[in-house]
Amino acid sequence: MKSSFTIATLLMLLFACSPRPWQATNKVYKKKAGSYGRLIQQYPLKDSGTLFVGTVNFSMRRPNFVIIHHTAQNSCDETLKTFTTTTREVSAHYVICKTGTVYHMLSDMLRAQHAGVSRWGAVTDLNSCSIGIEIDNNGNESFTDEQIGSLLMLLKRLKQAYNIPAANFLGHADVAPGRKVDPSKYFPWEKLANEGFGIWYDTANVVPPPGFDALQALRTIGYNINKPGDAIHSYKLHFNSQDSIPTLTATDAKIITSLLEKYR
Ligand SMILES: [Zn+2]
Repeated sequence: MKSSFTIATLLMLLFACSPRPWQATNKVYKKKAGSYGRLIQQYPLKDSGTLFVGTVNFSMRRPNFVIIHHTAQNSCDETLKTFTTTTREVSAHYVICKTGTVYHMLSDMLRAQHAGVSRWGAVTDLNSCSIGIEIDNNGNESFTDEQIGSLLMLLKRLKQAYNIPAANFLGHADVAPGRKVDPSKYFPWEKLANEGFGIWYDTANVVPPPGFDALQALRTIGYNINKPGDAIHSYKLHFNSQDSIPTLTATDAKIITSLLEKYR
């Protein structure tokens, strides 16, 4: 009787003392965030050759884009592990699990490493001005209703907090054609646009103007068309996902004419 009590007590003690799963990496986060805090208090910057007079009117820079991804991994745990491993060098602000649980991994005011080499219009460093949201999905499956529900709540908060324009809610594939295909053709962009996150087209009564150049119009919208085939693929994933034709058709010309009016 006595020995079983001792073993049970020992097990309880061991359990109580075992590190919480993210205790060590949370410590790294706090240390790193603290070092950036100290950095922005340095004035004037060493060797900058400037004098310092601090203004009293300022705030934190705000994100102006939201980039949506699918993780292309097999579970939320796998993604949390990836984003807390320094050698992987990737991260996102939020991760949304299949159950709808949302993990917040980085302050909205700091730069996550989710977009990589990217471009939208004249913006060439999306990481510096965006929030990255990763949705747990392997790329070949539908997103769960719980994930989309949580995503919509999160987007609503971000849009209000930072006054992000509807047109600036984009997918990774939109800003990295040829390199990325997420979120996949299963992502409900039209539903999102109906809620004010992203733009959707309306081709009723739309007639493309004579000589309409749909590819150039994609560039005007924001796509990097240096490699036209890649740009077209990214556009189709987002706006015409049922169509796997690698060129722009008459239907696409109508869709893009409508988009052009709405993105302006
Ligand atoms: Zn991505």
